[in-house]
Amino acid sequence: NKNAELIKSVIADVPDFPVKGILFRDITPLLADNRLYRLASEMMAEPFRDRPIDYVACVESRGFIFGGLIAEHLGAGFIPIRKKGKLPRETVSEDYGLEYGKDTIEVHTDAFSKGKHVLIVDDLLATGGTVQAAAKLVERAGGVVSGMTFLIELSELNGKELISEYNYASVIKY
Ligand code: 5GP
Repeated sequence: NKNAELIKSVIADVPDFPVKGILFRDITPLLADNRLYRLASEMMAEPFRDRPIDYVACVESRGFIFGGLIAEHLGAGFIPIRKKGKLPRETVSEDYGLEYGKDTIEVHTDAFSKGKHVLIVDDLLATGGTVQAAAKLVERAGGVVSGMTFLIELSELNGKELISEYNYASVIKY
């Protein structure tokens, strides 16, 4: 796909960031290009255009960058999933392991009413730990996970195994 190749061409590969041995895929040059930023968001939204998505739930912080535009494309509301301690009201929380390190994410307990259809958005699927935790949060808050969408999938880390019970889409793969 020509558009996917175009997007891939502006993602910068950064060796040994944030720790030695990790090849970091840096999306900031893509974001700086108005046309490609918009195209990337549209391609992330496209597979879910005909589904009844009530909310887009996005993982802080790079998920937010695409989530706002995707919510707009799909006519959905925006739900922030944040790192521990950032949300002001009662939350549910999940611990998870990362490709490098550990973290906790939270969502407001009353973020959406029971049975609402939620699309989870993040910039990148690596081991799948982050998005699996996000899906558990959405379910514990009463939502139905209708799908997951990513700009980038790191295939060799096999995140898709961890999220095999969900529909997911990714724009580019490494
Ligand atoms: P996972 O939980 O699937 O192992 O890791 C995915 C999370 O880590 C995403 O929230 C993503 O933002 C971040 N992440 C891991 N590696 C990279 C990378 O190479 N580039 C970017 N942009 N984010 C990464």
